[in-house]
Amino acid sequence: MVSPQVESTSDAHPDAFNEVEVLVVGAGQAGVAMSEHLSRFGIRHVVLERGRIAERWRSERWDSLVANGPAWHDRFPGMEFADVGPDGFPTKDQVAGYMSAYAEKFAAPVRCGVDVTKVRRADGRRGFFVESSEGTYLAEFVVSATGAFQTPAIPPLIPAQPGITQIHSSSYRNPHQLPAGAVLVVGAGSSGVQIAAELQRSGRQVYLAVGPHDRPPRAYRGRDFVWWLGVLDKWDASTPPLGAEHVTIAVSGAGGGHTVDFRALATEGIVLVGRASSYADGTVGFADDLAQNIAAGDTNYLGLLDEADAYVTRNGLDLPEEPEARMLAPDPECVTTPIRELDLAAAGVTSIVWATGFTSDYSWLPIGTLDERGRPLHRRGVSPESGIYFLGLPWQSRRGSSFIWGVWHDAKHVADHISIQRSYAAYRPNLDSAAVTSPITRLEAVTLGGEIDR
Ligand SMILES: Cc1cc2nc3c(=O)[nH]c(=O)nc-3n(C[C@H](O)[C@H](O)[C@H](O)COP(=O)(O)OP(=O)(O)OC[C@H]3O[C@@H](n4cnc5c(N)ncnc54)[C@H](O)[C@@H]3O)c2cc1C
Repeated sequence: MVSPQVESTSDAHPDAFNEVEVLVVGAGQAGVAMSEHLSRFGIRHVVLERGRIAERWRSERWDSLVANGPAWHDRFPGMEFADVGPDGFPTKDQVAGYMSAYAEKFAAPVRCGVDVTKVRRADGRRGFFVESSEGTYLAEFVVSATGAFQTPAIPPLIPAQPGITQIHSSSYRNPHQLPAGAVLVVGAGSSGVQIAAELQRSGRQVYLAVGPHDRPPRAYRGRDFVWWLGVLDKWDASTPPLGAEHVTIAVSGAGGGHTVDFRALATEGIVLVGRASSYADGTVGFADDLAQNIAAGDTNYLGLLDEADAYVTRNGLDLPEEPEARMLAPDPECVTTPIRELDLAAAGVTSIVWATGFTSDYSWLPIGTLDERGRPLHRRGVSPESGIYFLGLPWQSRRGSSFIWGVWHDAKHVADHISIQRSYAAYRPNLDSAAVTSPITRLEAVTLGGEIDR
């Protein structure tokens, strides 16, 4: 749920505050990338993190999670994973360790254990007062890098009741955590399919509610799908395909990586059902959309194979043909004659895992930064409220924006913008021209990809 933005009633300037030029909120991958780019520009900044660096990878993901992309791809440009081969899939702890090591590499000024509670414009002077658990800061620029996956979203479908444990995927750790019995997993994106498969392997009866999804092949003709999305220029797509804005991607790096195959999951014993859509008297109702969702996922899968084949032909690449990738098994019975209702008690379901995504709460930011639904207003991360920036938003500038490598490029853009703005602010007529770098010089340097003197 989105909390309304409320302007602070205490507009008085605080008696004591720390001054900093840029304050970054959050030290996940977005905050670390932001800090690196600000450091390159020599811009004084601090990163405030309520937990530890990459806290979400440490404490808000399940034990067996590995990155969805291989180590050569899902990383920042300036450093490889030390403990995983390039084609391996780093564990969640290796991703967290990588982020900490990266921050250490350039001595990122991260202050851990500091919660930011409010940002308000400092009336009558440049910048913002930032209230935090360690006091107030005055910052000229504030970058919100608090993540796109903040608040677990559970649809209000099934009331809390004795005998049924309901948790969100961000609270799921491993099968031992759940009481004995069958499990209903709702949502079949990357989290839902991986959690369902793990629960099934642990000996549970699992029901998996499958909604609309994209289902890229893990690899095709000897190349991982992240490579295909790269050469086909899909990571850089600036807007989601029409109608696919909220479609989740079912992909997995688990067990060395494999294509998510719903038919294979059914063969292993998972009962696939349609979207969970209703609940009454202990019975969950499922939409009549299972076959349609599986078919749409197939279309997405086969479409990528077609585009990959066309790319191979056009460029005369010597990549081994893989006709077997196009052979889809027949639909299992649970797809051809789907269950439309599940009496939880009769089926022995004692747990429900909601892999239904996240919402975000930016109500701590100043008025003017969010739309009426609480979503960030921005152009490539630059807020209309001058001095406020966002980083790590899905589709902030491209499809890759919320992924590890993509956020690095968005951070570069935001740092450029801050650098140009501070140059304008620093400009004084009649000053020795050497004293202030012209914003135009900066623009040229940025355009040419050059480094700017600190
Ligand atoms: C299950 C799952 C698997 C994923 N796997 C991959 C993958 O394999 N590859 C990939 O590229 N991407 C993956 N992603 C997507 C994305 O990379 C991660 O979600 C990543 O954590 C986002 O990084 P971030 O820095 O934008 O946000 P976060 O990691 O959420 O970091 C935000 C930080 O801000 C802190 N914070 C929040 N509010 C405050 C506050 N008010 N004051 C102070 N600190 C605050 C939080 O503690 C947190 O540490 C995955 C996402 C999920 C949910």
